[in-house]
Amino acid sequence: TSFQQADFPEKILELIKEKEFEKPSPIQSQTWPMVMSGHDLVGVARTGSGKTLSFLLPAIIHIQAQRELAKGDGPVVVVLAPTRELALQIAEISEEFSFSCDLKTVCLYGGAARGPQIQLLRMGTHIIVATPGRLIDLIEANETNMNRVTYLVLDEADRMLDMGFEPQIRSIVEKIREDRQTLLWSATWPKEVRKLASELTNSSVRVNV
Ligand code: AMP
Repeated sequence: TSFQQADFPEKILELIKEKEFEKPSPIQSQTWPMVMSGHDLVGVARTGSGKTLSFLLPAIIHIQAQRELAKGDGPVVVVLAPTRELALQIAEISEEFSFSCDLKTVCLYGGAARGPQIQLLRMGTHIIVATPGRLIDLIEANETNMNRVTYLVLDEADRMLDMGFEPQIRSIVEKIREDRQTLLWSATWPKEVRKLASELTNSSVRVNV
């Protein structure tokens, strides 16, 4: 599969060209068609496989397809990650690609002042990349809401469970409409992750890379 076959907007193809990626990674060519046709996905893969763009590029397409329908002030896409470092890493890539498509990304994480994150939220957002605790915190403070969310990603789900984020994850998911698209990524596949995946996704396709 080539990038052209994936049917991405011109702006995205240009950015990919700048990055000199020759072809989609195996994980990308396996997941893009499924995700872009609206399926839920459970992926078992490690970082370094090109997983970030495998969920971010379809996320951008998803938002562009919805834009006229969903006006409002909350995000359309939410990506949950276990640590501030991972959230920042995902958000940096998301900003780069979303900016070229006139979309905004905001990164929310704990252990830092809320003020600057709130300022950014007030300027509007399409994509939130967040650690679960801080996202709950800002939802409860009415600084954002899950009303418009139709695409949810849980990245490194096994690590989020290890870190005790399950109650926060469930509380966030409860606020998101049930007919959303859900993507769950994990490096390992223990019982706890299997259970979470089966509860949060609907007839998902499972991919092992
Ligand atoms: P990730 O697994 O998402 O953390 O990505 C690991 C690294 O692979 C990052 O530095 C990406 O920029 C890079 N990458 C992502 N997709 C591709 C691709 N199709 N070809 C070459 N490198 C890629």
